[in-house]
Amino acid sequence: MKNKLVLIFTILSFTIVCAQQQTETKQEPQGQDKPLNFVIIFADDLGYGDLSSYGHPTIHTQNLDQMAAEGQKWTNFYVGASVCTPSRAALLTGRLPIRNGMTSSVNRVLHPDSHNGLPQDEITLAEQLKKAGYTTASIGKWHLGHKEEYLPTNQGFDYYFGIPYSNDMDNIIPFRSSQGYIDFWKSEEKKNINTFNVPLIRNTEIVERPANQNTLTKRYNEEAVQFIRQNKDKPFFLYLAHNLPHVPLFASKDFLATSKRGLYGDVVEEIDHGVGQILAALKKNGLDENTIVVFTSDNGPWLIMNEEGGSAGLLREGKGSTWEGGMREPCIFWGPGRIQPGLVTQIGTTMDLFTTFSKLANVPVPDDRKIDGIDLGQTLFEKKPSKRKEVFYYRGDELYAVRLGAFKAHFITEGAYGPPAREEHDPPLLYNLEVDPSEKYNVAKSHPDIIKQIKALVKSHNSGLVKGEDQLKDRG
Ligand code: MG
Repeated sequence: MKNKLVLIFTILSFTIVCAQQQTETKQEPQGQDKPLNFVIIFADDLGYGDLSSYGHPTIHTQNLDQMAAEGQKWTNFYVGASVCTPSRAALLTGRLPIRNGMTSSVNRVLHPDSHNGLPQDEITLAEQLKKAGYTTASIGKWHLGHKEEYLPTNQGFDYYFGIPYSNDMDNIIPFRSSQGYIDFWKSEEKKNINTFNVPLIRNTEIVERPANQNTLTKRYNEEAVQFIRQNKDKPFFLYLAHNLPHVPLFASKDFLATSKRGLYGDVVEEIDHGVGQILAALKKNGLDENTIVVFTSDNGPWLIMNEEGGSAGLLREGKGSTWEGGMREPCIFWGPGRIQPGLVTQIGTTMDLFTTFSKLANVPVPDDRKIDGIDLGQTLFEKKPSKRKEVFYYRGDELYAVRLGAFKAHFITEGAYGPPAREEHDPPLLYNLEVDPSEKYNVAKSHPDIIKQIKALVKSHNSGLVKGEDQLKDRG
């Protein structure tokens, strides 16, 4: 009897040990004890070709290049729209802006006299992470509503420091025509910070007006480092959205006239310097192996600004356009020991950050609404293919183009700001982006099957689409 009991006890103990071992081997690489911190660094109007690691010959972005060497460099990463407001709404809600009214046929972005902002019933990534006890900060450009009820502190962020919209707004010089606006950028006034009467806000109070834009990037970087230091003992989400290199361009005196690329290069290199400061702060506080940092930009370069605008590299067109230069961005993920280093040519979008980071923080993705983001975890941590195969390119509230796998169909084309005029295409223009990333060679004639597939995708997208009420149209 005693021997039998010993045998049963031995078998039971063995089974328990095996079960424990199985659970241990099932752990995801990201599922370690401490919650992960998240840092999103979002540039404004930086193009696909503006970093040295993405091919720029004279802009020297040593910190971003190092981040790319240690992490993942994505070459098919997209934003949710080709201009500021809808692109930021997409990033923070994981939804196409058409669903929450943050894109419009009347106004392309919010303005200082706009009435509305991101609707309160939208769930931001900050609100998601608050559910898991994260401390959250938004530093920099907001552009999702400047009235108090729309400011970051009412959208899931514990702290806000920044300009609530673009740095060229509140311009004290009136323009009678769009040509006047272009002429202005050749003038001396653009060099004066007092020309742009933009407010700098801390939480909900204006603390400086006009904001001293000469030191803006420097101060945003310092605020970011301070936030990391102050929150080193608890999980945090830092959303650092620079106002630059959107025109007007300003840099602090340490960076002025230092880049071969001129003022635009000075500005990008100061942003890059801040990336270095942030990564150093994470290392110094022992957080580097417990933090995911991602760097990207809200939309492509503002090409009508000539030398003051950036470069989309080999991609066609820029900001405001549904050609690749408008919506494909440099994107670097960094997380030593977690992110599998290398080049990623899979497709991803800013909306996917909402889903990916929610999953990593063990917060369920909302199931009462359509979320367009997908989890990129298996690509980031295991270098497996991304589940994303589709990209929808909206301009305002109209779908202009769709990417499916390697192919992109343009149903409508139009100049970003001015000619060429809007033109509808049936059959659509078709480009193989893997072979022809510059969208030069229309291959529609040889691929009627692909066009059929993309048209079916558009049909199913439209059948499930509930358009949000336009939040951008009311002004004045
Ligand atoms: Mg922008």
